[in-house]
Amino acid sequence: MENYIEEDKEFIANTYGRFNLVIKEGHGSTFVDVNGKEYIDFGSGIGTNSFGVSDKEWLDAVVSQASTIQHTSNLYYSLPQIKLAKLLCEKTGMKKVFFSNSGAESNECAIKTARKYSFDKYGKGRSEIITLINSFHGRTICTLSATGQDVFHNYFFPFVEDFKYAPANDIDALKNLISDKTCAIMIETVQGEGGVNPLDAEYIKFIDKVCKEKDILFIVDEVQTGNGRTGYLYSYMEYGVNPNIVTTAKGLAGGLPFGAILFDEKTKNVLGLGEHGTTFGGNPVCASAAYSILKRLDDDLFNHVKECRKIVEKKLSDKSLVKSISGKGMMVGIELPENVKAKDVAIKCIENGLVVLTAKTKVRLLPPLNISFSDLEKGLDILLKSIKECM
Ligand SMILES: *Cc1c(COP(=O)(O)O)cnc(C)c1O
Repeated sequence: MENYIEEDKEFIANTYGRFNLVIKEGHGSTFVDVNGKEYIDFGSGIGTNSFGVSDKEWLDAVVSQASTIQHTSNLYYSLPQIKLAKLLCEKTGMKKVFFSNSGAESNECAIKTARKYSFDKYGKGRSEIITLINSFHGRTICTLSATGQDVFHNYFFPFVEDFKYAPANDIDALKNLISDKTCAIMIETVQGEGGVNPLDAEYIKFIDKVCKEKDILFIVDEVQTGNGRTGYLYSYMEYGVNPNIVTTAKGLAGGLPFGAILFDEKTKNVLGLGEHGTTFGGNPVCASAAYSILKRLDDDLFNHVKECRKIVEKKLSDKSLVKSISGKGMMVGIELPENVKAKDVAIKCIENGLVVLTAKTKVRLLPPLNISFSDLEKGLDILLKSIKECM
């Protein structure tokens, strides 16, 4: 294993502090490393492998499409794209879709759409977008600019102008930032990378209302919260609000690079001929994979996710080991006892045969949505043991 690590460090740009683990293969919610050691998977990539490793139906969709034709380009009509876009619209009530390859690209597209909507209707100068402090929207220059965390606003100057950052859940502060220059407000309903912090329902509803009153576009970044993760198809659906643009990626195609931007009636025709594009976006293998996932995101699955949440809350109720639990559904943030570091717990978990993620000071769990209760319980036992060993 050490051999791989040295070669990785020599030949791959050093942008990740990787864990000492080389994952080889797996099935469902478990996998083995190159030495044959077994792990339970509470990370799903980073919330990408929605139905676990090499899920049968997903695999059939991928193999079948790849052996038919792997790519056709957006110069031609594509049946897998049409089928998927139709299902996305039917399930959400949104009106049109643009396909991308990642979360950052989905948000980039949403930002372009918001600015063009405003430009078309009001002319220049109404280009401000309000995002939240502690948000995360991606790694391109524009989506870094949208990300409301100072640590991301270094080195790469100049950033994209006209982003304003509001403290989450503070309605008055938001009111003060809104002006006649505001064209959009963009939120995650649960800030994922920022520490698995859910927004208040009242706050989300206020944004929906104020956006409608002032013709400001309401953008929900569902890159992490979407595709069943919180126990709803898209997390905003829990609140009865109607965003103008919904962006997603991560779990959408069950582990292949894929994203989507959903437009409502107001925004569906904002991007016209030649005004946006992508070579790979909408790739037929990814679109077929996404269809195989999306058609199974139904009430049975959402109920399973909610049942899993109950198990997590019950199992992690010992306040001496877990100070608090945040998030929604199978997006779980775990606040650790004082002096216990999330990174150390993640390392200890790997030693003990469990893979978890972190978010800021918390341990973060994004297990496969269809994880069995027994794998979930086994994994939680390992997690508790690992926290104890870090104390
Ligand atoms: C991961 C993430 C992104 C970025 O997605 P990439 O596919 O890495 O570009 C954007 N927004 C949210 C909420 C995310 O969790």
